[in-house]
Amino acid sequence: MRIYNTAGKKLEDFVPHTEGKVGIYTCGPTVYHFAHIGNLRTYICEDVLVKTLIYAGYEVKRVMNITDVGHLSSDADTGEDKMLKGAKREHKTVLQIAEQYTKAFFDDFNALNMRMPDVVEPATHCIEDFIHMIEVLLEKGYAYVAGDNVYFDTSKLERYYTLSNQNEDELKVGVREDVEEDSNKRNKTDFVLWFTKSKFEDQELKWESPWGLGYPGWHIECSSIGIRHLGEYMDIHCGGVDNIFPHHTNEIAQSEAYLGHPWCRYWFHVHHLVEKDGKMSKSKGNFLTLSFLKEKGFDPLAYRYFCLQSHYRKPLEFSWEVLEQMASAYEKLRRRCSQLKEEGVVDEAAFERYRTRFSEVLQDDLNTSMAFTVLYDMLKDDISEATKKKLAESFDTVFSLELTKPYPEAAVDGELEAYVQKAIAERAEAKKNKDFARADAIRDELLGRGIAIRDTREGVTWEKI
Ligand code: AMP
Ligand code: ZN
Repeated sequence: MRIYNTAGKKLEDFVPHTEGKVGIYTCGPTVYHFAHIGNLRTYICEDVLVKTLIYAGYEVKRVMNITDVGHLSSDADTGEDKMLKGAKREHKTVLQIAEQYTKAFFDDFNALNMRMPDVVEPATHCIEDFIHMIEVLLEKGYAYVAGDNVYFDTSKLERYYTLSNQNEDELKVGVREDVEEDSNKRNKTDFVLWFTKSKFEDQELKWESPWGLGYPGWHIECSSIGIRHLGEYMDIHCGGVDNIFPHHTNEIAQSEAYLGHPWCRYWFHVHHLVEKDGKMSKSKGNFLTLSFLKEKGFDPLAYRYFCLQSHYRKPLEFSWEVLEQMASAYEKLRRRCSQLKEEGVVDEAAFERYRTRFSEVLQDDLNTSMAFTVLYDMLKDDISEATKKKLAESFDTVFSLELTKPYPEAAVDGELEAYVQKAIAERAEAKKNKDFARADAIRDELLGRGIAIRDTREGVTWEKI
């Protein structure tokens, strides 16, 4: 397998630390709001990475954190804790907000047929581990206390910018926009490991520590949770490209300083989903969610299909027109695959040939669009239906698009019309009563039966997908 490694800035052969096994870490969501479809693109690509590894025969352990404390508005440790911002916005406690949006995140995760990580770990469950790691960093002289906060001293490292191409001068330009400068920092790139004194006195969650009542910085959580569950050597660390600097750069700094040896070998970064006017971001407020796409009548899996058509290392531009086209291409593909019958005998040689080809293109830095070409070629080939069906099922362990799931043409058309109209009326009633969960459930139930409804200016329309 070859993957692009941000650490070496090139395609590299993948060799795990322990033969046949892969330890993979994913930066999880900051649960102060819904995930937007840009965030979900990153998780979809990571899901394909995990499933490609499994398809290639590796035993995979995937760990994901949940950021429920310490991620400030700016990744460079300034501004307000995002969780507190969410709590204030909705007049709830931080823990209520965390619970609500963690649930919403995994609802999206499941709707997109992603494999659950083997470990999901909220940061607030690991405070003791963070404190221990910070103590060791202080003992080893990599950290210092100033203004009652604990900082990592980046000048103690021979190489700090291991991932990004940035250098100190470029960084200074970036920092100019950053109005708040922390005068406690000895070096511009130093970052907070533990806050006890922040200008936000109303920080809700605080813990006792050797440095006083406080809370952890954001970066320490991923290092510490990664080491806790994957040991001292991690194979792959994933995230979106915005995580490269400062988050992942800081993770490497503190993990290697703590461990005293190299830590993670491969750094996998997904490029952003962008809109015509730039990157989609939660802090802008008006972002697109999976629920909104569903409301517009799109099957979540059509969005997964859309993401899989482009390479993870290219920015992907979102538009409704392209999503429409993708949804209809997906619908056609699903129709075609769901009609495959167990006819004839399985041609084992052809099965192996296609399976190998499919695995090869994916193992070539996740060439998902080429993997679809293999699927379409296979469907056109002169091989038995039974072979095609078996291959489609096999490919779908990576695509996860429910390709061979039958369409329930449950009723003859007249009955179907009556059934759908009844459901549409019930949904309208639920919406009127502001019971949006019920309205969503009705729409999802229809989707599950292969029926998509759309809210248009002329009213609600429906079609079989
Ligand atoms: P957050 O919940 O903000 O911590 O982000 C969750 C994940 O989404 C991180 O891995 C980010 O790098 C990634 N991400 C943020 N914005 C985008 C975007 N517009 N497109 C793709 N991934 C993104
Ligand atoms: Zn992280």
